[in-house]
Amino acid sequence: MKSAERRQIPAVSRILDALGQCDLPRPFIVELVRRKLSEIRANNQAPKLELIVADVRRSLDELRASRLQPVVNGTGIVIHTNFGRALLASEAACALNEIGPGYSNLEYDLATGERGRRGAYVEAAIALLCQAEAATVVNNCAAALVLIVRYFTTRNIEDRTEVVISRGELVQIGGGFRISEILQASGATLREVGATNKTTLEDYARACRPETALILKVHRSNFSMSGFVESPSSNEISALAKKKRTSFVEDLGSGAVIPTESLGIAEHEPTPAEVLKAGADLVCFSGDKLFGGPQAGIIAGKKRFVTALKREPLFRALRCDKLCLAALQATVDLHLNQKSGGIPTLAVLQFSEEALRARAVAISSRLQGLPLEIVIGRGSAKAGGGTLPKANVPSVTLEIVPANSSAGEFAASLRASNPPVIGYIADGRFKLDLRTIFPKQDDLVIQAIRGACTR
Ligand SMILES: *Cc1c(COP(=O)(O)O)cnc(C)c1O
Repeated sequence: MKSAERRQIPAVSRILDALGQCDLPRPFIVELVRRKLSEIRANNQAPKLELIVADVRRSLDELRASRLQPVVNGTGIVIHTNFGRALLASEAACALNEIGPGYSNLEYDLATGERGRRGAYVEAAIALLCQAEAATVVNNCAAALVLIVRYFTTRNIEDRTEVVISRGELVQIGGGFRISEILQASGATLREVGATNKTTLEDYARACRPETALILKVHRSNFSMSGFVESPSSNEISALAKKKRTSFVEDLGSGAVIPTESLGIAEHEPTPAEVLKAGADLVCFSGDKLFGGPQAGIIAGKKRFVTALKREPLFRALRCDKLCLAALQATVDLHLNQKSGGIPTLAVLQFSEEALRARAVAISSRLQGLPLEIVIGRGSAKAGGGTLPKANVPSVTLEIVPANSSAGEFAASLRASNPPVIGYIADGRFKLDLRTIFPKQDDLVIQAIRGACTR
């Protein structure tokens, strides 16, 4: 009985033939077909060839959707961690093309013909931009924090292992990533001070003891508190740290190097230069948030500390590769040349509402006659990605009510288009925020919506 059924199970090659051409690597397809067949055998089934093929096709579709690919971001969240955060400047993309495929002087000194320092230029450029004595770069800001905390808590100065931090700053940064956990994983003992909403200078002063390795201030870059709130300024904390003969580091997270007011955003983001001027020994921030570059953790501040961090064994494990350094170098140069208009993440925040509205009118007129209702609405875009939590940037939305499907089904259908178009659902409508959709993507959006109506 069993063997008779088994004979009906088609061979791998027959299924592969029936699948025809496929854009995914063949070993993946063969593996999926094998797995499907062994499932069928294990369950003692003998389905028709077409059913097996349809099943394998579904699995291939899922696999294809998991490949890294461009998406159209209609969420209005400018720095979206799920969508890859900052948009690289075209200069940075060119640098990737230039450095990636060939050899470079990554660690070679062209003057002496000997081994050189990795990142020498970018470090000097970042130091200049942050008005710091020195700077360096690691993989991301979380890595920068780990490196800094490990250094200050293990350098064996009088058994100093404690990190003093306000209870209002023990925050969660992203998917399951908490400051307290990073600090503990770095081997530090946390000494929490103050209350969630209020921490005074006196709280910090009382917590500082001979065991204190570091006072850490974490910028509330992804949420805000209002009302009965107090925390001392960077100036005050740094004066205290000096008096108590301990170090003071500030994690700035979002890393705005230009005043956010100049972007038309009311909320002021402390810049690295300001915080260093206030007396912090070191600051760290992300390369791919408001800085607008590749994923990186930028550290700037006192030269002796930067030098010491670079000597840590852990530094080697956290160092950036040539692609990251190439893109970062191009981005830092744009900042130094005050060409922040060439940094797309910042440009997107400044698109005028009138321009967005004109595009919305043009798009909706090209969608006439489809089975859907379309309204041009007002949106409120966000900087996102753990930056400027209070800043709502006025925006323009396309609000769609499909005639033949729910908003959820319509959203799923747009996600399945090529490239995927991603919006959000509010008030029972499917919405696309035009601020985060590039003008050159308008045609793609129109095609995707037409496609979703006919699917
Ligand atoms: C985003 C953020 C981090 C983490 O930065 P990554 O570059 O993603 O590692 C750390 N601290 C703060 C305050 C942040 O906002």
